[in-house]
Amino acid sequence: MAVPSVARLPPREIPGMNPVEAARWYFDQAAARLDLSQNMRKLLLTPKREIKVQIALEMDNGEIGTFLGYRVQHDSARGPFKGGLRYHPEVDGDEVVTLAQLMTWKTAVVNIPYGGAKGGIAVDGSLLSRRELESITRVFVDEIHDSIGPNKDIPAPDMGTNAQVMAWFANQYEKYHGFNPGCVTGKPLELHGSEGREEATGRGVVTIAQQLYKRRGKPLAGSTVAIQGFGNVGTYAARFFHEAGAKVVAVTDVTGGTKNAGGLDVWALIDWGAAKTPLAQFPGGEPITNEELLSAEVDLLVPAALGGVLTANNAEHVRAGMILEAANHPIHPEADEIFNRREILVVPDILANAGGVTVSYFEWVQNQQHFKWELSRVRQELDRILIDSFDKVWTLATEKKVPLRTAAYIIGIGRVGRATVLGGI
Ligand code: NAD
Repeated sequence: MAVPSVARLPPREIPGMNPVEAARWYFDQAAARLDLSQNMRKLLLTPKREIKVQIALEMDNGEIGTFLGYRVQHDSARGPFKGGLRYHPEVDGDEVVTLAQLMTWKTAVVNIPYGGAKGGIAVDGSLLSRRELESITRVFVDEIHDSIGPNKDIPAPDMGTNAQVMAWFANQYEKYHGFNPGCVTGKPLELHGSEGREEATGRGVVTIAQQLYKRRGKPLAGSTVAIQGFGNVGTYAARFFHEAGAKVVAVTDVTGGTKNAGGLDVWALIDWGAAKTPLAQFPGGEPITNEELLSAEVDLLVPAALGGVLTANNAEHVRAGMILEAANHPIHPEADEIFNRREILVVPDILANAGGVTVSYFEWVQNQQHFKWELSRVRQELDRILIDSFDKVWTLATEKKVPLRTAAYIIGIGRVGRATVLGGI
């Protein structure tokens, strides 16, 4: 099938936008196609609840530390609120609102029975001791436990959090509400986590890439990939790209990175990263900066770290033919317009990184049924959902001659809108 061609639109003014305005921009592209009234748009965009709490704890040096914690519950028309928990110094109210909204459309695009939420604490977790990290998590649960739960709102890992943080989170929640493993997902296997959850987002990114290459009539094997971010998502994506025969030629993290035109030895790089040695010093490559990685000459660029890394300032320098948004919101609308004009195909976050929330759903299902699935079943069900979702988005984009992002939003917003109306306003 041909690549979806984007109908030529007149140039538009897109002044510098904050994250909320940027999310609104993408929403409006789809809302216009769905013919949504202004009132319906307002209803769908406004979060149901925004929680902001103070988290106070005694630090290891005896001083009092205070931090701000957020949980935004955006929409629950299709099921309980669902979304990650981010520990990062740049977490703020606007960003959390934006990411909560993205979760609503994401769970709808892959058609799992959830709404959308997001939370976080404005803290640099790398500067905390293990005891401080545990305390901050437990105090956060103390503040919000009445507003969350397996049938209300189910957090999960995101930037700066991991299975250990989810274990502390569940343990503290259960002190108030009794045995409730489904109150959070992304838990360790020993504490009711699911096989395949840790790898799910990175693996899903590669599954979606395989579908993309198939539709473009190109083999993934032998093609070149650059990945920004070498945490949970970036590491697993690199591993599965490597296993699929693609050449991972550049990888960066917050400290910088490494490149090798012949393909990096991904397994050696994973060991290198695990030892906390700077990627730039990896003996199997040459140093590369984050900005250089974003403009690397590759077939596929995979931003898998922060939001907002591709902007009007650097979009013209991108030389990749395709971009797969493994991170949430890595592309500003201004840059998105440039990529549309330059016919650089972008697979949006709400589809590209939906593997994580999909396996979180499987974990929750297993918790609710007190039954464990094998890894093979998790992977099989994940592939089925992602391939089906990709097909629907691709087909709609082709039919309506819109970018893949607009098609994904049309599907997601359409499903949430119909559920809202059917449930009764
Ligand atoms: P992580 O904390 O495990 O890793 C983040 C990575 O980004 C690290 O390698 C870090 O060094 C790098 N990074 C941080 N700041 C950077 C900067 N300024 N420049 C370059 N690199 C930087 O986080 P993760 O779970 O891998 O999440 C990465 C992205 O994927 C986030 O946008 C997150 O919202 C999104 N996401 C994660 C999941 C999941 O299941 N973990 C699911 C969906 C989406």
